[in-house]
Amino acid sequence: MELERPLPTITPEAKPYWDGLRQGKLMLPRCRACRRAFFYPRVLCPFCQAQDVEWFQASGRGKLHTFEIAYQTISRAFKIKPPYVLAMIELEEGPRMMSNLVGIEPDPKRITCDMPVEVVFEKLTDEVTLPLFRPAGGAR
Ligand SMILES: [Zn+2]
Repeated sequence: MELERPLPTITPEAKPYWDGLRQGKLMLPRCRACRRAFFYPRVLCPFCQAQDVEWFQASGRGKLHTFEIAYQTISRAFKIKPPYVLAMIELEEGPRMMSNLVGIEPDPKRITCDMPVEVVFEKLTDEVTLPLFRPAGGAR
């Protein structure tokens, strides 16, 4: 099977994140000291540097912070047919993550910043499932 994207390296500090995705859960790290959620996964809290990190299941809801419609693929490892939407998602819990917006035409007239989105899980391999996002409430 030919993969559409290069596979990520699963690092020990991010293992709960990847384990969660395989089970259809978006897990986020949160600092036990200052209670703030963050992304990407780290062993140190990026806000207060505490080394006391726990994991919790995020709602999977958020909004489209910003986006770009890609009409060309720059890396040869990406085989997704353009155009597609690169999206910076702001999760309800606060952290922002890069993803793709799916389930909507890649048309700048239809996609707007701050539109509500929800996570969908795309299984790439037995180890790797990616969180993608679609307009909340399903396709329009
Ligand atoms: Zn903290």
